[in-house]
Amino acid sequence: MKGNVLMNIYLDNAATTRPCEAAVNAAFYGMVEGWGNPSSLHRMGIDAERLVTEARKDIAAGLVCSPECITFTSGATESNNTAVNGICENYGRRKKKIVITSIEHPSVAEPVAKLERNGYTVIRIKPDCEGKIDADDIVKAVDDDTFLVSCMLVNNETGLILPVKRAFASIKRNYPECITHCDAVQGFMKIPFKASDLYADVITVSSHKIHGIKGAGALYVKKGIRVAPLLCGGGQEKNVRSGTESVPLISAFGAAVRVMLANQSVSYKNAEEISRYLLFRLSKLDYVTVNSVSENQSPYIINFSVMGIRSETMLHFLESKGIYVSSGSACSKGGKSKVLSEFGISDKAADSAIRVSLCCSSTKGEIDALIKAISEGKLSLASTK
Ligand code: PMP
Repeated sequence: MKGNVLMNIYLDNAATTRPCEAAVNAAFYGMVEGWGNPSSLHRMGIDAERLVTEARKDIAAGLVCSPECITFTSGATESNNTAVNGICENYGRRKKKIVITSIEHPSVAEPVAKLERNGYTVIRIKPDCEGKIDADDIVKAVDDDTFLVSCMLVNNETGLILPVKRAFASIKRNYPECITHCDAVQGFMKIPFKASDLYADVITVSSHKIHGIKGAGALYVKKGIRVAPLLCGGGQEKNVRSGTESVPLISAFGAAVRVMLANQSVSYKNAEEISRYLLFRLSKLDYVTVNSVSENQSPYIINFSVMGIRSETMLHFLESKGIYVSSGSACSKGGKSKVLSEFGISDKAADSAIRVSLCCSSTKGEIDALIKAISEGKLSLASTK
């Protein structure tokens, strides 16, 4: 295969990230040394429990909160489902209204839609004509009958940063009993924030988006807030999430947070520089429209459309060059993105949307290769139409 070696350029970090060495080592240690059941009373159990306790402290350090506020789950999908249903069970008995944005991840949007089918009223706040979510629109939708407001921190398709702090601070001032939830998956360890900064009662985070391993996530639950469990059984995780804790995956999550925390500002600066460079290079291609245009933008996610070429076609062309990107979000499996149309992006542009998502080790060289491949793709794919 000499002379035909494919590059491997991974620009799909919003879908998942490569596990870092520390996470892999921690998982390995958890499997070979910490394989006891954390609930067992003997030494094997205590050793396993110690690993979970250490990881809990790590996640708490990442969110700048008390370790007691952290519940481990199998990932953000479970955390979001637990948040929505668990808050509803405890706070939605007399009140009937839920406010979310129209661009939430399906793991929030779907359980909320199910509650709507069961009789709850749901208000979905749409982005304005510039694609921004206005904090005031969220605040104005809340009233005495509202028991849950859920707003994500960073949109996974466009990288828009939502005004969670402004909206939640105002809601908590006027309606202190209304519970606030934030899906912070795409912001955690990337956009600096503390749990208390967001005025959120409940926060969702995931391990595999920050160089941990798939199958572990966490729910931050502020002291005094009661989230009913989705999974009932042995009463682990203080009854919020029954099921024997996956010690290796949880340990890996803790290790990933430690590494990310140590590199957070360097990584952010790198993402800023690389995304600026990507936008500059894209601005020279007259057939490209950039969809991530907000001034409140995560530098880790850039969405653009290569007009005239369908997302999936371009995605596979780039793949043939060893470059991995996404069309919309990985969760929609290539299906048309509802979120992009919520942002006011035309059907044509949404059909050709490409999401590039960066990590701490993304380089300008990778962007050069991407731009070269897009230009080649535009030429050869347009001519075969
Ligand atoms: N929320 C957001 C914003 C996401 O981007 C994702 C992953 N695509 C999830 C939730 C679900 O995360 P997990 O894969 O850990 O279930």
